[in-house]
Amino acid sequence: MRALLLLVLLLLPAVLYGAAATPARPVPVVVVVLDELPLGSLLDGRGRVDERRCPTFARLAREATWYDRATTVGDRTIQAVPALLTGRYPRPGAEPTRADHPRSLFTLLEGSHAQQVHEAVTSLASTEAAGGLRVSGGDHLGRSADPVDALRRFTAGIHNAPGPDLVFLHEVVPHFPWRYLPSGRPYAAADAPFEYGRPAVARWSDDPWSVYQAHERHLRQVAFADRLLGEVLSRLRAIGLYDDAMVVVVADHGVSFRAGGNRRRLDLANHGDILPVPLFVKYPGQRVGAVDHRAAESVDVLPTVADVVGVSAGPVDGRSLRQPAVDRAVKTAFDRDDRRFEFPSPVAVETAPARSARLLAACGARADLVGRRAVGADGADEGVLEEAGAGLAPCWVRARLRLASRGAGASVAVAVNGIVRAVVPVRPSADGTCALSVLLDEAAFGPGRNDVRVYRVQDGRMSRVRCGEARVSPLQFHHGASGFGRRGR
Ligand SMILES: [Zn+2]
Repeated sequence: MRALLLLVLLLLPAVLYGAAATPARPVPVVVVVLDELPLGSLLDGRGRVDERRCPTFARLAREATWYDRATTVGDRTIQAVPALLTGRYPRPGAEPTRADHPRSLFTLLEGSHAQQVHEAVTSLASTEAAGGLRVSGGDHLGRSADPVDALRRFTAGIHNAPGPDLVFLHEVVPHFPWRYLPSGRPYAAADAPFEYGRPAVARWSDDPWSVYQAHERHLRQVAFADRLLGEVLSRLRAIGLYDDAMVVVVADHGVSFRAGGNRRRLDLANHGDILPVPLFVKYPGQRVGAVDHRAAESVDVLPTVADVVGVSAGPVDGRSLRQPAVDRAVKTAFDRDDRRFEFPSPVAVETAPARSARLLAACGARADLVGRRAVGADGADEGVLEEAGAGLAPCWVRARLRLASRGAGASVAVAVNGIVRAVVPVRPSADGTCALSVLLDEAAFGPGRNDVRVYRVQDGRMSRVRCGEARVSPLQFHHGASGFGRRGR
């Protein structure tokens, strides 16, 4: 009797999700891999998927199984994506190629599934996938010139072939460079720096404000990535592929926002930012969401696909998520130097609001003036406002300021059309200049004419920073007669 009960329990998930042990027609498989997306960036302050920032992921949480303790096994794309595709931990020196990964999702389903593949960084798929729509990969060191365009072009071409399909999509979204607002409108050029005037860095500066700003930019791009993912899932629904397919949505690794810390390199301080990743699996026929707290790792994805499709995964390091959970006591991951780390499970995740609050508290930014009217006469401070590039949203306000005095606890307010939209702590360098960099919401700007001004805030009083030399595109900022910038343009 107990044996029978156990058998029923084991079969129950398969019955619920409509996946028989030996399906008559092989199950279509869709795997979407996003890049540089830590789990915490999806979450609200209570640890749930944030409905406002990430409505697509929130819907996935309602319809799919969320493995909320899933972690990746490598801090680099060229380790982490092959691990997803092979079910194996990264091997020292392995290239992200088919030659170095002869067994993968692509070979597993080669005989049974027509393959539609877009690999942005790796090249594990056959270059001659049978019936494939498009196979890209090529130089794994290169990237799509425009990841968003590449993702959208691939999405538009996803089709429902007569036989079962494997659709695999990996693009470097929402990966740095951070340049998109949630709407998808760019506010910065493709080579935009992490921080004002600072190119791509492996390690953050000690200034929490600049890290806070980078985090804000990351979160906006995450919101845009959610929209792009929504376009992919809409396409699957439109062509009738979604319901019957096994759909996996996962990210290859996260990213860390800690002043003075490593941005991406795995270490003991940032592993909670790098390793936990979103992992959602919508099983064939599944309509109701579930949360599975097991200690999942990214190497479990391939054996799970094999399990659902009904083929042998072969020798792998992962375990099928369809089988009863055998919890891992530790999570395994490898850094870019092939050093093996083990962390107790579960790995703690910092939510996006908690991150923002931590960074803000460290830099002493004040929010009490935001939303108030900006008032103040011209002061002794000067500055140069940067031009927003042609065709870009004017939301990223940057200026180089020369401050007449360096008062302790001083800050700078940025006002749009007379309303303070941000207050930025001032960190003057030895020569008295300081960089102002703040990303404002699109909603702060009206159509057409916008008046942007910078104020020094000191001892509770505001005085205007004279930015007379600003070169500002009139398409981006329109200055009133008393505003800064070139007048009469
Ligand atoms: Zn990556």
